[in-house]
Amino acid sequence: MAAIEYLAEAELSVVVPMYDEEEVLPSFLGRLRPVLDGLRVRYEVIAVDDASADQTPVLLQRVLRTWPQLRVVRLRANAGHQAALSAGLSRARGRWVVTIDADLQDPPELIADLLAEARAGEVDVVYGVRANRSSDTAFKRRTASLYYRLLRRLSGVDAPRDAGDFRLMSRATVDAVLAVAERGRVLRVVVPALGFPSAIVRYRRERRAAGRSKYPLAKMVGLAMESVINWSLAPLRLATWFGLLGFLAALLSTGYGVVGGLLGHAVPGWTSTVTIVSAFAAIELLCIGVLGEYVGRILKAQRELPVFFVAYDSAETASARKVS
Ligand code: UDP
Ligand code: MG
Repeated sequence: MAAIEYLAEAELSVVVPMYDEEEVLPSFLGRLRPVLDGLRVRYEVIAVDDASADQTPVLLQRVLRTWPQLRVVRLRANAGHQAALSAGLSRARGRWVVTIDADLQDPPELIADLLAEARAGEVDVVYGVRANRSSDTAFKRRTASLYYRLLRRLSGVDAPRDAGDFRLMSRATVDAVLAVAERGRVLRVVVPALGFPSAIVRYRRERRAAGRSKYPLAKMVGLAMESVINWSLAPLRLATWFGLLGFLAALLSTGYGVVGGLLGHAVPGWTSTVTIVSAFAAIELLCIGVLGEYVGRILKAQRELPVFFVAYDSAETASARKVS
């Protein structure tokens, strides 16, 4: 009962997506709780268990008994980082909402700074920006830098460089984000695209404290594609540019053939023909691929399949118990 009141009036919600984080979870929660207790505000923690297959739900249940401000939302199937964040945001009730990873790469202590910055600057969004990425591998650094460059260039959204998903948002921002009816909503694009007043707080991104990254290369590429394709028509225009380029090449080769014929030059063998034919085939396939990306998304959208399904919510269970 007391916990429900807390939830209703929370000043701060902390949304934590977690997927198979049994190794790091005890130390994460152990570090998070004193920080939040020390803030002297009403808060709630929304742990979104993204259908973990390890001991994560068991550990959460254990902590639930001793931490009234903790709310556990378990998804029925693994929905992925961004969808898990959306699930948490849709349930957060706080005036301010922080999203943070469970692996201690984002220091929980910084939440105090994010909140202070938001209140002092009267801004809607405070981005946690990685001051240095020395704890990342050279590969991750390079791909990340490419990702942010592409994102800014192609989507036309002024997304702060090196801001991940560690950020604080006002209630208005969260409501606006949730109103963006977009499948595969990438918060890194949607939040800056709103253009609400914002500030940044720099921090040193630590190495993952324990466990393995849940972002293999395939998922990273997937996130990058979602970010660009969901927000921009640039890839479609790419098809047009390739088409123009192909047209130019065709004109040139025709000119070459005509001039060669007039001057009585022997026509070169079929190698050049094959090269040109395959080059065109490649261009066409690429264009079809780009179109396919969009068509595929239209298909997905018209299915209107929710991006996440909640299997369990400790707050709802508690109120059901109260009613019965
Ligand atoms: N995560 C999730 N669902 C997934 C993959 C990841 O909820 O399908 C969570 C994960 O538990 C972590 C956060 O998203 O709290 C970021 O993932 P991770 O640290 O593995 O990514 P990285 O920091 O390596 O990019
Ligand atoms: Mg991580």
